[in-house]
Amino acid sequence: MASAAHPDIDLTTQCDCGAIKLAAKGQVVSMFLCACRNCQKATGTGHSTVVLMPATAISLTGATKPYSRPADSGATFTRHFCPGCGTTLYAQSSRAPALRMLTAGLFAGQNDWFVPNQLIFSRSHQAWDLVADHLPRHTTYRPEPQQ
Ligand SMILES: [Zn+2]
Ligand SMILES: [Zn+2]
Repeated sequence: MASAAHPDIDLTTQCDCGAIKLAAKGQVVSMFLCACRNCQKATGTGHSTVVLMPATAISLTGATKPYSRPADSGATFTRHFCPGCGTTLYAQSSRAPALRMLTAGLFAGQNDWFVPNQLIFSRSHQAWDLVADHLPRHTTYRPEPQQ
């Protein structure tokens, strides 16, 4: 069932240059913030905004370029971005191949449904990056898969 924690979305968006279009249609699995150092570099800010969705909910037109790196979990983390403008369209982990990670910012102008439920990798979170006090914080990964 759709709820504030698991909204049903039906949105289309595109990268900054417009070469790649992305449609997301389905129920959000989880929403969280990640303050790991990789996310800080990838976003240029203090944390990334992650929207976890089933891979089957995402469709793309246009070819993304993948960049893979080892994650702290031992999995391989792959970010898919537009080779023309550098916008990240989605990311995935080898640990959860059926899921895709989108960013709330990818849906700029149509993302008021984004309600993060936790901050992960708080060990590298910086005080200047303001995050709501009530948000649960995990030193690294969340202890259990999200409901
Ligand atoms: Zn682009
Ligand atoms: Zn991260």
